[in-house]
Order: sequence, then C-alpha cells, then structure tokens
Amino acid sequence: SNQQPSLLKKVWSSWMSVPLWLQIMIGMLLGILTGVSLGEQATYLKPIGTLFVNTIKMLIVPLVFCSLIVGVTSMQDTAKMGRIGFKSFAFYLGTTSIAITLGLAVGHIMQPGTGLDMVAHETAEVVKQAPSIMQTLIDIVPTNPIAALASGQILQVIVFAVALGIALVLIGEHGKPAIKVFESLAEAMYKLTDLVMKFAPYGVFGLMAWVAGEYGVDMLMPLIKVIIAVYIGCFLHVVGFYSFVLVVFAKLNPIQFFKGISNAIAVAYTTSSSAGTLPASMKCASEYLGVNKKISSFVLPLGTTINMDGTALYQGVTALFVAQAFGIDLTWVDYITIILTATLASIGTAGVPGAGLVMLTLVLTTVGLPLEGVALIAGIDRILDMARTVVNVSGDLVATTVIAKSEGEIDVEHYNANAEDSAEM
Ligand code: ASP
Repeated sequence: SNQQPSLLKKVWSSWMSVPLWLQIMIGMLLGILTGVSLGEQATYLKPIGTLFVNTIKMLIVPLVFCSLIVGVTSMQDTAKMGRIGFKSFAFYLGTTSIAITLGLAVGHIMQPGTGLDMVAHETAEVVKQAPSIMQTLIDIVPTNPIAALASGQILQVIVFAVALGIALVLIGEHGKPAIKVFESLAEAMYKLTDLVMKFAPYGVFGLMAWVAGEYGVDMLMPLIKVIIAVYIGCFLHVVGFYSFVLVVFAKLNPIQFFKGISNAIAVAYTTSSSAGTLPASMKCASEYLGVNKKISSFVLPLGTTINMDGTALYQGVTALFVAQAFGIDLTWVDYITIILTATLASIGTAGVPGAGLVMLTLVLTTVGLPLEGVALIAGIDRILDMARTVVNVSGDLVATTVIAKSEGEIDVEHYNANAEDSAEM
C-alpha cells in the first residue's frame, strides 16, 4: 500500500511531461471514445467542459481591455495605430469574401443537398433574430463603457480601450501612473492565461465526451455530406489559402505557422468559440510566432469580433445545401448577394458557439431561401461550428502575422524556431 502513491506520482509526472498540445489531443480522443461508449450518459461529463469554458471566458474582458490599452500606449504613434487598423479591416473583409466564395464553390461541386427530401422535415421556428448590419455599426460605440465591460461587448470594449489608450498618451506625464497599472494588470492576465491553459486537456475531454455522446454516429449519416463539404472547404481555406497568403504577403514558412498555433487550434475546435480561444491565440502569437504584443493585442481581439472566414465559408456551403435540398435554382445575382451579405454579417457575428447559425438565417432570407433549412443544419451545427471556429481563429492569426511582418514587428528568428518552444510546453 506504500507503493500506490508513488506509482500514481510516477504516472502523474510522466503525464505532466507530455507537451500541452499533445495532452489536449489525448483529452480530445479519450473524450470521443468515452462519449461514444456512454451515449446520452456522457452529458454528465459536460460540467467539466463548461467549467473550462467559464474559466477561459473569465479572462477575456480584462485580458483584452488591459492588453489593448498597453498596446495602444506603447505605440505612442497614433498614425501607426490608424494604419494598422485600416490594414486589419481590409485584410479581414478581403479574406472573408474569398472564404465564402470558396464555400459556394465547394457547395456547387459537391452538391450536398441534392437528393435530400426536405419536405419530410418539420418546419422549426427560428429562435433568434439576426441584428441588422446598420445596428451593428452604430453599436460599436458604448454609451456606458462599464456596461460594455460588464456584459462582455468586445467590440465596444475595443473602442473604449483604444480611446482611453490614446488619451493616456496625449496627456503625457499625467498618463504614466495609469499606464503602469495597466501594464502590471496585463502581465498578470498573461500569467493567468498560462495557468488556465493547463486545465485545457480536462476541459476538452469533457466537451468532446458530451458532443460525441449527444450526436452519436448514426444520427449523422444523412447529413454527412454537408459535414464533409464544410470540412473540405475549411481545410482548403486554412491549408491552401492561408499558406499562400503567408508565403506571398509575408514570406514566412506556413509549416512553422501551423506548428505555432496548434494550441489555439485545439482550443478553437473543442470550444467552438473564437472569443473563448482569444487568450490561447494571444499566447500563441507572442510566444510561438514571435509577434510583438503591441500588434497582437490589437489585431487579434478585433479579428475575433469581426473576422469570421470559417463562418462565411460555412454559410456558402449551407446556403447552397438548402437551395439544392429544396430544388431552388440560384442566379449569379443571388450568389453575389450571398457573398456581400455573409461578408458584412461576419462583422456582426459574435465569436460564441452557434452564432453563425443565427446569421445563416439572415443570409438565407436575403436570397429568399426557405428558413426550414436552418432546422436541418441546426442538428449538426456543433460539428460544423467546431471546424469553422478553427478557420476563424486561424484567419485572425494569419492576419496578425502578416500585419506584424509588414510593420517589422515580428521576430522572424523566433518564428522559425517555434517548433522547439512548443515541444517544451
Ligand atoms: N462559433 C464561431 C466562433 O466563435 C462563430 C460561429 O458560430 O460561426 O468563431
């Protein structure tokens, strides 16, 4: 009986020497196995996942707020800020319209909806109303910054933090003490992120067990084609298009990039929330990609809120799926309308699980497609959500890397050496 604790200790210490990304992968696989074998019962494991998601959400507002203020005040140059903001916006909208075009192409080629009998399915009412694009734009200025912080309105938090940061710079000496406070708080938030990430493998285990248990294997069969189409589109966009962007616009090795962001990808896939993944993305950007925090603390939170390549791509595939399932022919005007709507809608899509499904109703409505299609997609949405969130997060990180490179704010040597760093985690 004396040996038992030492055996446990040994197992524990060898587990602790496994790199974090591998721990997360193991958690994911064990979660799927557990979920498939427990079925409905796996719901009991969901609280572990929820606890992890809550812990990571806890970080978001203070992390974004403090690190963004520090980012702005350390820049000391408002012209540079404006330039980076403009670059980010252009990059985000450009890549998103390419993503949805790719989604339409994949949906057109693979024809996931052809032969599916939609008439047999019940009409389900759409629960939430998608906000209008104008309202989204107006709402970015908070009437009450404390309310914005308290309710986690990230876009509003960004606007206020940038404004406060600029004001702190403008008042010179008087701003110094407050800047010091935010610098110290930002450091503490980075540390806290570090600690929270150590819990990721267990949280991921709980989340995957729940997803696998809830959907099972055979429930997916009729919709497997949509899933495959969305996954192929996501894969092409991330591995094909983003690699191309990294090589052409930043002259950086894509393999190093994907190695560097593997932790963020694992968190994105399992939590289905790019907002929830933000702390992990920020860590990857500065620690593995060698991006200066000045850049990542601004470009990443902005991307999390307005850049949704995966969501746009998914809307392209699923809009075509619905059209095909109902035997509706779309004109090229419809295609262009879908591209424009989905690109603009992506600005207003929150980085939380299921947000893209709500926005899908907006896209379907603008081209007159039946909303009953949403009900069918809803059944498999979590599985699609996982893939599109990975694309959303990767897109934010690509933008951050490319913009940092163009500003000379990336440590290329560090970027090229990140493989060893990740193994040490
Ligand atoms: N879950 C996605 C994200 O957080 C948004 C969506 O539902 O499409 O990035």
